[in-house]
Amino acid sequence: MMSRSFSLRSVPVELPPVERFGQFLASCGKRFTPQRRLILEQVFSHHDHFDADELMEHLQTLIAQRRVSRPTVYRTLAELVEAGMLRKMILESRSVYEHQYGYPSHDHLHCQRCNRLIEFHSPELERIRDQVARRLHFEVTGHRMFITGICAECRGGVRL
Ligand SMILES: [Zn+2]
Ligand SMILES: [Zn+2]
Repeated sequence: MMSRSFSLRSVPVELPPVERFGQFLASCGKRFTPQRRLILEQVFSHHDHFDADELMEHLQTLIAQRRVSRPTVYRTLAELVEAGMLRKMILESRSVYEHQYGYPSHDHLHCQRCNRLIEFHSPELERIRDQVARRLHFEVTGHRMFITGICAECRGGVRL
């Protein structure tokens, strides 16, 4: 996990992730296997940005014990994205995941030197987005924006 990332606070949700994912799987006629449950628990144990390799590293004990397999991890990640519980972002050809379920909408600053992701939320930005959409008769379902550059630490400035 990228430990140095700055994260926003979570928001309350109607159902715990395990129940929400259970509903999704049932709607697809899929079984909530113990493997899927283990992966879900790991993914939702804390909020962070992570890629599949970092998750594998996190799950390596379970993989070594043959309690989960790598293909199952990839498949479950795809299902969590499909269920709208994880957000998948492509960052310089790397797939980065983060919680979408129970987490406020936000955007990111990406440091090109240390790869750190810093989260922020700007109501002003959303207002501009909605104005643009209205003008073009476009229905907004979401947006993603990455501001690229060099973070304060890498610039040798003050820490956040
Ligand atoms: Zn940096
Ligand atoms: Zn984020």
